[in-house]
Amino acid sequence: MAILKVARLGHPVLRRIAAPVPAEEIRSTEIQRLIDDMIETMREYNGAGLAAPQVHALKQVCVIEVTENPRYPEAPSIPLTVLVNPAVTPLTDEMDDGWEGCLSVPDMRGIVPRYTSVRLEAHDREAGRVDVVAKEFFARVIQHETDHLNGIVYLDRMKDLSTLTHLAEWNRYWLGNTEQDD
Ligand SMILES: [Zn+2]
Repeated sequence: MAILKVARLGHPVLRRIAAPVPAEEIRSTEIQRLIDDMIETMREYNGAGLAAPQVHALKQVCVIEVTENPRYPEAPSIPLTVLVNPAVTPLTDEMDDGWEGCLSVPDMRGIVPRYTSVRLEAHDREAGRVDVVAKEFFARVIQHETDHLNGIVYLDRMKDLSTLTHLAEWNRYWLGNTEQDD
């Protein structure tokens, strides 16, 4: 396994569209190694998720996991989730505002509106079918990660850039203020 280099905002790879992985290739050594390396990289940098374009691989793969994350001390836990070729369909018009950060936009946070309930269809790492309804924080992380597969970063989704905040100031002025993530 290896810790991969994470592309930062401005690198063109973050703005390109990732290609689907053919179902018969999901269990290949190449894709399994990519998934393992993405998990290791996400954990090394305390990401809540990581999408393949962030590690310079234009494939529709993302990984998600939240367990007592120091970058997101208030976030609920999410077990390790590997998604290949995810498709996300909103199940409501309702959107909630919540703070997001991104390993490709280091040391920043901003308030992003996201659908509160989505249907997620994908393959898992064994090429099995995933078809679940995700809500609240899990729905938020799924929308953030699948946006990466379409060349979209969370800044593009912000309605009001005045909440864009450096991490040190976020910890000082915003941490513990749950007003925005009800
Ligand atoms: Zn991100």
